[in-house]
Amino acid sequence: MKTLVMKFGGTSTSNVEALNRAADIVVAQHGAWDRMVVVVSAMEGVTDMLIDCAEGSLSKDKARYQVIIDQLRDNLNAVVWAIFAGDHFYEKLNALIDTRLQELTNICQRIQLQGKSSPRDMDEIAAMGERINVHVFSALLGKRRVRSQAIEATNLIVTDDCYQAASPIQTATDARVDAVLSPLFADAIIPVVTGFIGATPNGTTTTLGRGGSDYTAAILGVSLKADQVWIWTDVDGIMTVDPNLSSRARLIPEISYNEVYQLAYSGARVLHPKTILLAREGDIPLWVKNTFNSECNGTRISHCSLSDRSTISAVTGFFDINLITFRTIPGGDVNKIKALLRAALKNRGTTTLAVFQAKHDRSVSFAFSANNSNHAIQIIREDGALRSHGWNFSQPQVIEKVALITLVGREIYLTPQALSLATSTLSKAGIDIKRIGNGTSPDSLVFAVANKDGEYAINKIHDEVILNDPLISTIPQPVLKHLSTI
Ligand code: ADP
Ligand code: ASP
Ligand code: MG
Repeated sequence: MKTLVMKFGGTSTSNVEALNRAADIVVAQHGAWDRMVVVVSAMEGVTDMLIDCAEGSLSKDKARYQVIIDQLRDNLNAVVWAIFAGDHFYEKLNALIDTRLQELTNICQRIQLQGKSSPRDMDEIAAMGERINVHVFSALLGKRRVRSQAIEATNLIVTDDCYQAASPIQTATDARVDAVLSPLFADAIIPVVTGFIGATPNGTTTTLGRGGSDYTAAILGVSLKADQVWIWTDVDGIMTVDPNLSSRARLIPEISYNEVYQLAYSGARVLHPKTILLAREGDIPLWVKNTFNSECNGTRISHCSLSDRSTISAVTGFFDINLITFRTIPGGDVNKIKALLRAALKNRGTTTLAVFQAKHDRSVSFAFSANNSNHAIQIIREDGALRSHGWNFSQPQVIEKVALITLVGREIYLTPQALSLATSTLSKAGIDIKRIGNGTSPDSLVFAVANKDGEYAINKIHDEVILNDPLISTIPQPVLKHLSTI
């Protein structure tokens, strides 16, 4: 049975034009597949407003959360009015918006009274945007006379109770997916499912982490053994660099799961990293496509790379990173220390963004986002295995605010030419390279530079290394279109 899961992000549902384009895409695919599921995020900016609202209920300004809720109501009502005024969906959607925003007000009032919020409250609040938008999207399909049903994934995706970053329990999810979606498929009804959210086995709402609607699409793709998962967004696909950073970004038509995982893990927010791991595990091809340029094929993500040879295919960056460095005492074994430090962090569920090892001063450095680094140091100080090893390394030294520039390509960490080309490009540009290392696979090469040099370093690597590669520079490019040109 040919099955497609499509996901529309916040950027694809941010306003009336975007919503109409997304609905037209669904209609165009309807009929080409035996089973089709649509996953929908909250409209762009709505989740941020909801989180502001939760934080506002703890602020001194007691009216703040109400101001945000009023703003949300105005924004949502304006979209619903523009699309549905005069037809029977209009009243229904307005009533639904009122109900959800009343629930939101109740939670905020409770938080204000208690003077504190829990991660569980935060998830309940953050989920509201998707819980409204699926109904809007389903009504849009109804307006086009396509049968669909809005589904809140609290009934579908069963997760653990790790609020704000929950993980799916796949077997329980598979059973629910079968029970809830099969009857709809049998009646040729398209399920329109909330991205980003799930619920614990006892029904408490959870979220899968920011940007988690992509992950929802992969979870459903695996459950349904889908032939393909398509992620619709506001750019033509996976590009050689974030097109918002460089107008010279080029579309990559084909890239491997491993390479794109390194990109996503290293700061390119185009896909939620866990989405890629799950699709790879389930052997499901993922496509990234542009809602605003739907004739363009986009990027196919599978086990295949762009090329058999090792090519630097993309660059991305993470800013405001702290580097924590340990030096072994003379005679100490730096590899052993590195392994112990890694194990200590892993045991406590903390992952590093990159690891750098320098032979000349027997040091090893770990990269963390600024708000994670104190926690990481505490974990290392408390670790029993490191203590019993005699703590034969220096006290941690922290370098604050660096940028991690990650170059991605098939096995580039193992390719000396890639390393020397990138190093000489940065050095010639006068950029001080603080560290060189790898990410979490041989498909990435990471440079730590000062925060202030980060954007310049990305552009230099992109324009002088990636674009100079004949393979990249000869890829045919689609005509670029943007929402602003509509
Ligand atoms: P959505 O709302 O559809 O989930 P996101 O904002 O989460 O969209 O992701 C799309 C954005 O990812 C693009 O607008 C782009 O700025 C950013 N991005 C970062 N790096 C890349 C890259 N290498 N290729 C494509 N997009 C990228
Ligand atoms: N709405 C959620 C967020 O803003 C999930 C998503 O967009 O994928 O993080
Ligand atoms: Mg996203």
